[in-house]
Amino acid sequence: MVKYRVFVLKGDADSSELAEKLGKGNVSVKKLKLYSRNLLLAWPDSGKPVDHPGIEFQTSIDSEFILSSREWKRDDTIVDVGGVHVGRDVTIAAGPCSIDFTENIEEFASQLKKAGAHIIRGGAYKPRTSPFSFQGKGTEGLDILKKMGEASGLPVVSEILDSDNLKDFNGVDLLQIGSRNAQNFQLLRKVARDGRPILLKRGMGNTYTEWMATADYVMSEGNGSVILCERGIRTFDNATRFTLDIGSIARGKNESHLPICADPSHPAGTRELVIPMTLSSVAAGADMILVEVHPNPDLALSDGKQQITVRDLAKLAESVKSLRQAIRV
Ligand code: PEP
Ligand code: MN
Repeated sequence: MVKYRVFVLKGDADSSELAEKLGKGNVSVKKLKLYSRNLLLAWPDSGKPVDHPGIEFQTSIDSEFILSSREWKRDDTIVDVGGVHVGRDVTIAAGPCSIDFTENIEEFASQLKKAGAHIIRGGAYKPRTSPFSFQGKGTEGLDILKKMGEASGLPVVSEILDSDNLKDFNGVDLLQIGSRNAQNFQLLRKVARDGRPILLKRGMGNTYTEWMATADYVMSEGNGSVILCERGIRTFDNATRFTLDIGSIARGKNESHLPICADPSHPAGTRELVIPMTLSSVAAGADMILVEVHPNPDLALSDGKQQITVRDLAKLAESVKSLRQAIRV
């Protein structure tokens, strides 16, 4: 496997000279600015440290994910989502699978906040298995979500399916890339260039390494505001809708500097399992929970069975607090 060498340059050092020195023969180089630092990536790595006055730190990385790795950035990355700092405490993003209602939206938004939500989620463009299933309300849904954000003073997150829709997402604080688009690399690159924070779900058929590497696609466009989200994978067992890979959350926390989110709703598939799956994710180190909450789950037009009520959200948020105190992380 190809090894990479990452160089973190001194504050004002110009990377051009070093890039020229390194980029000879079969060596590729990429200049990047991430977290206000000038970086240089060179591969394949010869294995020998490079001597240059502009280098503050260098390391060789033998992995398929580089930029998302802790090997070059030891400290946790905190992602600012409209003033909410994801990666500090446990952030709760809550709201409907899809915005399929038009009434009492302000009231619902303030109920979510009161129950413990820090960010409001709401799907407007839904990636459904069948083209004949409810596809979401599109721009109307986004307008409702933005109104919910304004009414509660909370930032909002919604899934984007097509970079052509980016304009409609103005006012959406966090752009969600769904499981089905996790390896849609062109979409990742285009959305990354927008510069807003990105919530990157794990593809349901992706390995841990493939998931981590998707973050590199976003970061290689110079956007370091990435939150990785474990949402369950396909396994041989259908006891739950998807198998929530708790181990990948713990491993991700060790090996990546990016905040890790867990979505307990999609692997649960049924509302009774949402709180236990939330707590196990938090115990494994999750920095954020993305949970589906609907004003009337039985009337929901998508994922009705797994959506919880606002009352359950309040229980969930309280249990997360108690758990954090108990394990003192
Ligand atoms: C969602 O969060 O609404 C969603 C569609 O999730 P996923 O992409 O994980 O299936
Ligand atoms: Mn859903």
